[in-house]
Amino acid sequence: MSRRLSQLAGIPVTELKGVGERSAKALAAVEIETVLDLLTHYPRRYVDRTNEARIADLRPGEEGLVLGTVKRATTRRARTGKVMAEVDITDGTGFLRITFFNQSWRAKQLSEGTQAAFFGKFDLYRGKRQMVNPVVDLIGNRTGRIVPVYPQSADLDTWEIAGWVEEALRRAGEFAESLPEALRDRLDLAERTWAFHQIHEPESMAARGAARKRLAFDELLRLQVSLVMRKRAVERESKGIRHDVTGDLVPRFHAALPFPLTGAQRRAIEAIEDDLAGPHPMHRLLQGDVGAGKTVVAVSALLVAVQGGHQGALMAPTEVLAEQHFLGIRSLLGDLSVPDQTGSLFADRPVKVELLTNRTTASERAKLAAGLDDGSVDILIGTHALLTEGVAFRDLGVVVIDEQHRFGVEQRAALRGKGDDPDVLVMTATPIPRTAAMTVYGDLDVTTLDELPPGRTPVRTTWARGPLEEAEAWARVRAEVEAGRQAYVVCPLVEESERVQARSATEEFERLQASTLAGLRLGLLHGQMRAADKESAMAAFRRGEVDVLVATTVIEVGVDVPSATVMVIEDADRFGIAQLHQLRGRVGRGAAESFCYLLGGAEGEDNERLAALERTTDGFELAEVDLALRGEGTLLGTRQKGRSDLKLASLRHDRSLIERARQVAFEIVDADPLLAGHPVLEDEVRSLLDPDEAEFLFKS
Ligand code: ADP
Ligand code: MG
Repeated sequence: MSRRLSQLAGIPVTELKGVGERSAKALAAVEIETVLDLLTHYPRRYVDRTNEARIADLRPGEEGLVLGTVKRATTRRARTGKVMAEVDITDGTGFLRITFFNQSWRAKQLSEGTQAAFFGKFDLYRGKRQMVNPVVDLIGNRTGRIVPVYPQSADLDTWEIAGWVEEALRRAGEFAESLPEALRDRLDLAERTWAFHQIHEPESMAARGAARKRLAFDELLRLQVSLVMRKRAVERESKGIRHDVTGDLVPRFHAALPFPLTGAQRRAIEAIEDDLAGPHPMHRLLQGDVGAGKTVVAVSALLVAVQGGHQGALMAPTEVLAEQHFLGIRSLLGDLSVPDQTGSLFADRPVKVELLTNRTTASERAKLAAGLDDGSVDILIGTHALLTEGVAFRDLGVVVIDEQHRFGVEQRAALRGKGDDPDVLVMTATPIPRTAAMTVYGDLDVTTLDELPPGRTPVRTTWARGPLEEAEAWARVRAEVEAGRQAYVVCPLVEESERVQARSATEEFERLQASTLAGLRLGLLHGQMRAADKESAMAAFRRGEVDVLVATTVIEVGVDVPSATVMVIEDADRFGIAQLHQLRGRVGRGAAESFCYLLGGAEGEDNERLAALERTTDGFELAEVDLALRGEGTLLGTRQKGRSDLKLASLRHDRSLIERARQVAFEIVDADPLLAGHPVLEDEVRSLLDPDEAEFLFKS
């Protein structure tokens, strides 16, 4: 009888002969508790002994892999003061000295008699063979041509793990196959049993590659099947509104805009209108770089609802963002009017947009509630405040969620629950590569605005690494102001609270006014200011009465002043890539060349982020860098609740595999919606889901 993964997940590792109490504890510390955990604890790399060199044959300047036994290990202090470990090894053909700088613990790790593999560059030092700071793998006295190296911890050696894996594989026998043979043939995928053996004990590196491909595909397919099932289940379960997309409100809105839509905007709006007209509620992600013009697309979707007599809602993660959307959307709409369906007369009235945040007073709320109830409020913009109980729409037709990654699943569901299966558009300015989006947002349809409105000039970005460049930044601010243009200074991010942040912005404003930027007209903008004060600070800047706006990240979104051509971001290393890119998007909105200076950031770990911003203004490229630097876990974590199951597959490196997995998932689910004919796969998909979710997806 063949083994299912779920069975292996039910067997504790202590069932293995080699695993005693001490080992079980060490394994639990790295989250290995069951035999399945152990078998999916894949080698981190392999020592390929077919590439092994004999010490006697090494040539200076060459890189090579040497296996040897430690004869002697010592530490000493070099003349420079650095502690160094010196380890002498032999493989029977000669001696080699391994020198480690700043790794004095190596002398203890590599005590006399230890066998290890060393990979590094070989050279001669005072006539003696040596290797400096090589990669070291303790593989014990393992034989075999290709030796797996497992992620190790202080209490676990790779050969111990290898031993347990060997026992587990032997005792597990045949694995249940989840894929039909025809599919395996078509996709050139190995058998599962073979794959599990070859990933742990490969015959060759080619076999290992084939094994990895199969097991990574399994991970991706499980995930995609669950996502596709969710998509289909939602479509099955919900009735949705068939919106009328033939009205003239949206065309009138477009005609009144001071600019033509970009091709990308037109395509996005068409896709959205198709969704809205269709029988199922829309679940679409709109992603686009900073300044790509997502707002116009969102407003078009909201207006489709309005022209059919429904209401729209837009939820943003912060008060400032909500307020800016409110002001921006009001001005985009101008005096656009709709037929008044609430009154008895056939009259037109302006589209009514309202704002709801925690700052909205009780009496304003009461008025708002009445307007939502009788349908005279067409579009409600706000923060989480929209989710409160008192907010009830007469007929909510379209929901837009901005910067959706900042909201949880429950919050999005709560907003949806304010209507009867309304259509949902979620937006993000942190675009991710298409195939990554398929995984992270696999139950959504994705539209990308891949074209910026014309007339934007790329922002020239400089990472000011030292005082000289910093001085250049301030000189640039003065020069631009002298030339009649304007500047932003973004204050350091202070974590604790908005209040602390506001205070530090105020102090920085005073400091700049008194010294660095003395003589210029400075303005201040932060989140703690009253809405009216914020608006008048912005208005003064817009009118050119203020040369330099000193601000917190409140300017991250929405602020749009074409004659602002330089931005200085203080302590830039405290911001993430996406946020810096957003901030920078506030300049470069006119025809003049624009500049951004990133202050701060030590050489070292931060430099990759700042250097990436210096190198490119392409949001997608930056998203890739971000993905590489922050790891994929963070990306998946936001939606998959940490149960991503992707141990081998990589969102970055397995693009074509992701596409194939998604395609196969659609084929399987659409032919067999509840996986009745795929019991092994069904079992594995269920194990990814929590019980409620499973019940929802597998309900016929
Ligand atoms: P995003 O939210 O995608 O970052 P916005 O919707 O805030 O971008 O738009 C950025 C700016 O570009 C706004 O000032 C907006 O009015 C302007 N804009 C949007 N679409 C166009 C277009 N097709 N042509 C010119 N300007 C546009
Ligand atoms: Mg926006």
